[in-house]
Amino acid sequence: MNKLKIAIQKSGRLYEDSIKLLKDCSIEINIGIDKLKTTALNFPLEILFLRDDDIPQYLEDGVADIGIVGKNLLLEKRKRIKIKETLGFGKCRLSIAVPKSLSYNKIQDLDGKRIATSYPFLVREFFEKRYINAEIHEISGAVEIAPGIGLADCICDLVSSGSTLFMNGLKEVETVLQSEAVLASHLHLDSTQHIIMEKFLFRIRAVKKAKN
Ligand code: ATP
Ligand code: ZN
Repeated sequence: MNKLKIAIQKSGRLYEDSIKLLKDCSIEINIGIDKLKTTALNFPLEILFLRDDDIPQYLEDGVADIGIVGKNLLLEKRKRIKIKETLGFGKCRLSIAVPKSLSYNKIQDLDGKRIATSYPFLVREFFEKRYINAEIHEISGAVEIAPGIGLADCICDLVSSGSTLFMNGLKEVETVLQSEAVLASHLHLDSTQHIIMEKFLFRIRAVKKAKN
């Protein structure tokens, strides 16, 4: 029988909860030592372990049929894929933060500022809608240290507890997006793949219901 290929994060913040979701759906897997891919023992599912950043592209190309990834990444990458279900974990927000010492009252205070982020598209859209002119500097990691080393005046990054911001002398001032993990799919699944996905979604919804 055909199998459905699901992409999940290889390691990182979404890994444990993605594995737990499979388990809660009574899908049994053995994770091998190389951890590149594995096949479920009692469900027609093949699991691919990938970097989260690569998952949206793989879903667009059909290398994976479905995948678990943060809404933040999906909206930033703007691939042609479909969101099927929100999953209730990986909750965070994409927020703008400024140095604690800066007096901040309103969004216009960001006009003319240099902002460091890994989310240039979402940040640009946020500013354009509000007629703010900010200079966006795209950096791929450790965004929170940018103001401290003089690379930018402020940042836009993912926040959950806020402790990373606090430790870097920053304060959160605006929310650009609320995010959580979602199940997304390739646009053109064949009929068998579609049936398997619907079975999986049925179980996911039952798990979500049981938790509420
Ligand atoms: P990878 O090695 O797969 O590229 P990464 O370092 O880019 O991993 P993680 O930090 O593991 O990614 O975050 C993965 C996702 O977890 C984020 O895209 C986001 O949706 C979610 N997330 C939840 N809380 C946070 C947080 N406080 N900081 C960053 N991401 C968070
Ligand atoms: Zn990543």
